[in-house]
Amino acid sequence: MAERVTDVVVSEVFGPTFQGEGPSAGRRAGFVRVGRCPLSCSWCDTAYTWDWDRYDPAVELHRRTVDDVLADVDSMGVDMVVVTGGEPLAQRSALAALARGLRERDLRVEVETSGVIAPAADVVDLVDQWNVSPKLTNSGMPRERRIVPDALAAFVDTGRAVFKFVVVEPSDLDEVAEIVDAHRLHPVWIMPEGTDAAAIATRLRDLAEPVLRRGWHLTPRLHVLVWGDRRGV
Ligand code: SF4
Repeated sequence: MAERVTDVVVSEVFGPTFQGEGPSAGRRAGFVRVGRCPLSCSWCDTAYTWDWDRYDPAVELHRRTVDDVLADVDSMGVDMVVVTGGEPLAQRSALAALARGLRERDLRVEVETSGVIAPAADVVDLVDQWNVSPKLTNSGMPRERRIVPDALAAFVDTGRAVFKFVVVEPSDLDEVAEIVDAHRLHPVWIMPEGTDAAAIATRLRDLAEPVLRRGWHLTPRLHVLVWGDRRGV
């Protein structure tokens, strides 16, 4: 069935909560988590948006109108909305309609993406901040699928992108440096992988000094520290 431009396939819409990651960590926000993703990272903590070997799309995904989703956002009492996934860029028309509706409400819009699909021209200026998270070897994805130079260049060109890397071991930072240098990515945020508070705390301690030495930023996963791997918070 052809997708109507006012429809969006969502996994979950929730808030108010806090943005847990990156430059806006700690900010009160609403979340729109869209369904589907072209990647399949080994440590993905939202596999229920795309892994149909483990989850049932008939249960996990909901086709809704953008107006319906915006009505949910209206009830949250937030001034910022994070559109995340899954992969928001995989639903081009829906993302544009959603971002337009959010901007019409004077809400700050952040979009979280793996950076493998370039943003369409009609959506670039509707988004206040692109939280781009290129994947490393530790994702289990082949490089040609997780690093798409033209797409990364398009995000750099927006002038509104930050680049956040999910790191398991301090040794992953060398790979981050190689990607950052090759594609001129800036600013760089490092985030520890993990879905429980103990793992996040340990990895933050291990990463802090080497991240400082490289001139980058470090972000926790605030929602994991507070709520563990619960969905919808
Ligand atoms: S890009 Fe994000 S949503 Fe997609 S599989 Fe990787 S971690 Fe999961």
